[in-house]
Amino acid sequence: MSDVIKLLPDSVANQIAAGEVIQRPASAVKELLENSIDAGADHIRLIIKDGGKTLIQVTDNGSGMTESDAGLCFDRHATSKITRAADLFAIHTMGFRGEALASIAAISKIELKTRTSEADVGTIVFVDASNIQSQEPCPCPAGTNISVKNLFYNTPARRNFLKSDNVEKRHILTEFQRVAIARPDISFQFFQNDQLTHQLDKGNLKQRITSLFGSNYNQRLIPVEEETQLLKVSGFTAKPEYSKKTRGEQFFFVNQRFIRSPYLNHAVEQAFEELIPEDTFPGFFLFLETDPEQIDVNVHPTKTEIKFQDERFVYQVIKSAVKRSLGKHNVSPTLDFEQESAFDNIITDKNRPVRPPGVHVNPDYNPFQQEKSSYQGGKSLTGRINPKQWEQLFPGPEEVREVTGQTNEKQTIISPDWEERKQDNGQKKFFQLHNRFILTPVKSGMMVIDQQRAHERVLFEKYTDSIAGKSAGSQQLLFPENIRLNEQETEMLKEIIEDIRQLGFEINPIGKSTFVINAVPAGISEEGSLQECVEEILENIQKNRLELKDDKKTNVIRSLAKRLAVKHGKALTEEEMSALADSLFACRAPEYSPAGKPVLSIISLEELSDRFK
Ligand code: ADP
Ligand code: MG
Repeated sequence: MSDVIKLLPDSVANQIAAGEVIQRPASAVKELLENSIDAGADHIRLIIKDGGKTLIQVTDNGSGMTESDAGLCFDRHATSKITRAADLFAIHTMGFRGEALASIAAISKIELKTRTSEADVGTIVFVDASNIQSQEPCPCPAGTNISVKNLFYNTPARRNFLKSDNVEKRHILTEFQRVAIARPDISFQFFQNDQLTHQLDKGNLKQRITSLFGSNYNQRLIPVEEETQLLKVSGFTAKPEYSKKTRGEQFFFVNQRFIRSPYLNHAVEQAFEELIPEDTFPGFFLFLETDPEQIDVNVHPTKTEIKFQDERFVYQVIKSAVKRSLGKHNVSPTLDFEQESAFDNIITDKNRPVRPPGVHVNPDYNPFQQEKSSYQGGKSLTGRINPKQWEQLFPGPEEVREVTGQTNEKQTIISPDWEERKQDNGQKKFFQLHNRFILTPVKSGMMVIDQQRAHERVLFEKYTDSIAGKSAGSQQLLFPENIRLNEQETEMLKEIIEDIRQLGFEINPIGKSTFVINAVPAGISEEGSLQECVEEILENIQKNRLELKDDKKTNVIRSLAKRLAVKHGKALTEEEMSALADSLFACRAPEYSPAGKPVLSIISLEELSDRFK
C-alpha cells in the first residue's frame, strides 16, 4: 500500500482553524479590536455593515506594521507577541496565538493599509481566501486600517448558519462593550451601517460604564477595591435593588481581558446572597489584576476562559471584597427576604395596594375576569385533553417534552377528580396559603395549586392560541406610552416585534431606541410600568434563549406569560381562585408550567390519615 498521510495545504488548515476562532462576525470584531489594543492604539474606530456580514473595518492609531510584516501577518502562527514557549506563561498581550488574521483571511477578502510612524510611506495588501493578491506601497496615516469583506463567502455552509443581521449586530455589540469596558483609557467610535452609534471618549471606568449603559448607572454603582499580595480586585457592583433576571450585566476582566467564569460569578452571587431575591443576578464590572504567571489564558482558542493557579483563593478574595464593599456602602447586612410572614401581613391589609419592589399592581384588577368569561362552564374538561394536540402545540425542548409525557398520564387521573368534585358540591371551597398556594378539597384528598405557575400555564395556552390566529385580544391604551430601551433590548425587540404584535401589543419604533405602545394584550394592567414590563419580557426571552433553546415564538409566549402571570405574594379572593382553577383545568396541560415545573399536587386522604396513625 502506498503512503496515505499528507500534510494539509495551508489554505485548508487555515479554514479549519477559522472554524475554531471565528464563529461569527462578532468573533472577527473581537480579534481585530484586540490587535489594535496590542498595537498600543489609544483611538480605535469600528465600522460594520449588515451585521458584519458585508464589512468589518477597524482603524487604529497604533504601531502599524512594516512592509514585510504586512504580508507576513496573514500566515498561520505569525505573531510578534511571543517567541518561545516560556512566553506562554507570561502573556501581557491580548493575542499571542498568531491565528486570528490567518483565520479571518481564509474566509474573507481583506484590504489592509498600515504604516509605522518611522516610515514615510505605508503598505496596502489585498488578500482573498488566504492568497495575497497584491502588496504595494501606499500613502496612509500611521497605524492600521483593516477591512474584512464578505466574511464566510467561500464557506457557504457557515455563511448560511449565520443569523439575521440584527442578531449578528447584537453579538458584535456585546464584544464591543466587553472591549470598551476593559479599556476606558482608549477612545472608541462605532459605526453601524454608516451611522455613528457610539462615541466613547477616554475617561475612567465609571464614565465608560455610564456612556455605554446610560447615565442612571451613576447612582447604581458601588465601588469595590481590595488588594492582596497576589491579586488586586477593583471595579463596581450594581446595588442589590438593580439586580436583574439575567446574567447579562456581569463582567469579569482579568488583566483587562474579558473572561467567562461561572465559578467566579458564583463568588459574587454568594456575597449578594440574602440581599437579592432568588433567581435574580447581581450586576458587576470587576477587574482582577494578577501576575500573568499566575494564570493560563491558553486554554481555549477564543481566550475567554482562563485558569488560575489557585482558583479557590481568587474565589475567596472576590467574595470578601464584594461583601465588604456592600457593607461599607450600607446595603448589607440583614435585609431579610425570608420574612414571608411580614410580607403577608402587608398585603392582606386590604387598604394597601400590593407593591412588590418597583412594580405597580392595580389591586382592583381581577386577572381572571378574562379567562372566566371565556370559560365554557367546565362541561367537557376531560374531553379537551388530547395528547396529539399537545404534541403539536408545544414543540418545546426535549426536557419539557419529557415531562409532558408524564403529564398526559396524570391528567386523566386528576381531571375527572376535578369534575366530580364540582358536581359533588356545587359550592367551591378555596383557601389561599401564604399568598402562594391555593388549597381546595377534591374527591381523593386535597389539591394544592401553585398560583403563579397555574396562571403562567393558563396565559401560555391563551397566547399560543392567539398567535395561531385564533383571537388576539388587545386593549387600547387611553394615552399611548413611550418606552426607551438600551441597545441590546432594542435589537432584541426588533427581532420579535412581529410576534408580540400578534399577541396584542401595538408597538412601533419612533426613533433609535424609543418605541410607542398604543395597545397591550388584554389582561395587562400596568400603571406607568410598561417600560419595566417590556424590559422584563425581553430579559425573560434572553434567559430562555440560553436555558431552553426554544423556537422564537414559543420563547416570546413563554416570556410574556411569565411576566403577566399573577405572582407569589398576591392575595386572591375566593372568586379569583375559583376562576383560576377553572381556567387551569380548561388547559390542555394543566399539570405543568410552561417551563415544565409541576403546577399542582394532590395530598391523598390515605397520606393524611397515615400521619395520624
Ligand atoms: P496574534 O494577535 O495572536 O499575534 P494575529 O493573527 O491576530 O495574531 O496577528 C498577527 C500579527 O499581526 C500580530 O502579532 C501583530 O504583529 C500584527 N498585527 C495585527 N493587527 C495589527 C494592528 N492593528 N497593528 C499592528 N500590528 C498588527
Ligand atoms: Mg490577535
